[in-house]
Amino acid sequence: MIHSMMDDVERVLISTEELKQRIADMGRQISQDYAGKEILMIGVLRGAVIFMADLARAIDIPVAIDFMAVSSYGAGTSSSGVVRILKDLDETVEGKHILVVEDIIDSGLTLNYLLDNIKSRKPASLRMCTLLNKPERRKVNVHIDYNGFTIPDHFVVGYGLDYAEKYRNLPFIGILKPAVYEP
Ligand code: 5GP
Ligand code: MG
Ligand code: MG
Repeated sequence: MIHSMMDDVERVLISTEELKQRIADMGRQISQDYAGKEILMIGVLRGAVIFMADLARAIDIPVAIDFMAVSSYGAGTSSSGVVRILKDLDETVEGKHILVVEDIIDSGLTLNYLLDNIKSRKPASLRMCTLLNKPERRKVNVHIDYNGFTIPDHFVVGYGLDYAEKYRNLPFIGILKPAVYEP
């Protein structure tokens, strides 16, 4: 038997259809809020890529896109708060309306660092948007301007989110079977 990614999925938390509808709503809201302006969307690699691609197409005002890659020091599934920039922006930020796009806000440490960093580059405005929010694990208070879904404290994969660089291409948000994590 050929192994399918679906065999590793315990259950679907947010379906493809739910994602599609919610992202359409978010796109409409963002288009209204920024009417008459242009946005520079900053996607945080790599988890935000798939969400950002769909969100950008749900927005009907001009959008430029750029990416940053960061890594938090320390291994494991939780971040340490010490963030290192692996790839910086290609675009300048000064005077632009910036919308940071994240896959998930967990401890909030990565986002907290990123927002401070971008703020220091003097944008005209700075807001953030996340597909998922896991408030139970928050370590620093971060203001989320646009939130797709608030979820309980599960490790989730799919729609951009990985486990060991796999499962990003699942077209839904799911929870893996415990056996997947066993060596
Ligand atoms: P924070 O700095 O908010 O703790 O970490 C955010 C990053 O940790 C996310 O961008 C994501 O890469 C990773 N992360 C946090 N929770 C999850 C999760 O449930 N699933 C996956 N795949 N990654 C997560
Ligand atoms: Mg992220
Ligand atoms: Mg990851």
